[in-house]
Amino acid sequence: MAEHRTCLVDTHCHLDLYPDPASLLRSVEAAGIYTIAVTNAPSVFSHTKQLTEKSRYVRAAIGLHPELVKTHAHERPLFWQHLAETRYVGEVGLDHVTPDTADRSLQREVFAEVLEHCAAIGGKILTVHSRRAASTVIDMVGRDFPGVVILHWFSGSLREASRAADNGLYFSVNPAMTRSKSGQALIERLDPDRVLTETDGPFVSLGKEPATPPDVSVVLRHLAEAWRMDEAEAANRVFSTLRRVLPVKPVEATP
Ligand code: MN
Repeated sequence: MAEHRTCLVDTHCHLDLYPDPASLLRSVEAAGIYTIAVTNAPSVFSHTKQLTEKSRYVRAAIGLHPELVKTHAHERPLFWQHLAETRYVGEVGLDHVTPDTADRSLQREVFAEVLEHCAAIGGKILTVHSRRAASTVIDMVGRDFPGVVILHWFSGSLREASRAADNGLYFSVNPAMTRSKSGQALIERLDPDRVLTETDGPFVSLGKEPATPPDVSVVLRHLAEAWRMDEAEAANRVFSTLRRVLPVKPVEATP
């Protein structure tokens, strides 16, 4: 079997929200970083789909961000229509920062429908938001979801994290999580075989700049420390996890 090189992994990046998505895409492509380009509303999916169509490393995901459900729930038919065009789904989920009970219940309704449509097709890879709603999200996904669910920027309790892991869910860790006490505690606790890396750029910044896919190296440094291994080994571990859950072809090493 040919040797293959380890690639970096960014399972949650808002490519379409940077000032120049096409040039960022070119640099991600040149660096060979496996990236899931999430979108926040069904009406903007096609743009990212077209942009990434010929990409070897970047995949467009269809999404409806929970914080946009209130204003964009009417785009649901478009979501179901585009769902056949991609294996990747996100950003979806629940955000219970809002105290508005009508908004929360509409978010639950939409997320339940997303899960139902994805389950009916099977094999989808979902990147899921669960701020202040971890338990509900874990309950709604359940134990036997026929696809891959990645909890992005997980901020629930350690107990909720272990319940999610027991149910077969994955976690994507970003640079902001490596800076917070609770994020660090979570990183210490997570089973390395359930961990992927993300940037959530441009929402997460590094210094004054929005994070971009190469910045997953910041996360890898923290994972390496938590896992008592070097950074290359941590990168290898994350890439193996990606290869276990996604249809990724290994890239042959160039001499
Ligand atoms: Mn996001």
